[in-house]
Amino acid sequence: IAITFDDGPHPRKTAEILDFLAENSVRATFFVVGENAKYYPDLIDREASEGHEIGNHTYGHVVLTKTDNENALRELAKNDEVIFDTVGIKPSVVRPPCGCYNDFIRQNEKRPLVMWTIDTRDWSHQNKDRTVNTVLSSVKDGDIILMHDLFVPTAEASEILIPELVNRGFQLVTVSELINYRGEINGTVLNNS
Ligand code: ZN
Repeated sequence: IAITFDDGPHPRKTAEILDFLAENSVRATFFVVGENAKYYPDLIDREASEGHEIGNHTYGHVVLTKTDNENALRELAKNDEVIFDTVGIKPSVVRPPCGCYNDFIRQNEKRPLVMWTIDTRDWSHQNKDRTVNTVLSSVKDGDIILMHDLFVPTAEASEILIPELVNRGFQLVTVSELINYRGEINGTVLNNS
């Protein structure tokens, strides 16, 4: 399974979540927003150097279907630049904000557009127990879990979830590793092929 954290990095909770991942020797994927990555370069540097995957979530968290096509591509390119300038890698996966894309994006963005199979809605309820229960009540092999590394309850939920998922025998891998192991996953990873 792949745990994904969107919208960071954020000084409040990203570092804590990185600690929980390290304590359990597992990896996650951070779909970072360029504006935040630019303000907190040390945090995405830590994400990358500790073996986690950095994905592109646009520069300014722009919903790509609600802006013109040219700007949509610019938002992705600008975030690629920030990430490359900070950690020296080009992300190999993209998650469009709100999971929103259209034919133009699919044709022009060659990397996988990564959706999810478990939406914790952590940003909405900001309730640790609800996040934990949403995951543990339905998690299965191959799942992609959506959370956001901005909120205190999400970090608290991560502290419980990460060791519990390991105890249950799940391998916590990056999105690219999941794609490599399993191929395209219905409804969760979209590409142009
Ligand atoms: Zn987002």
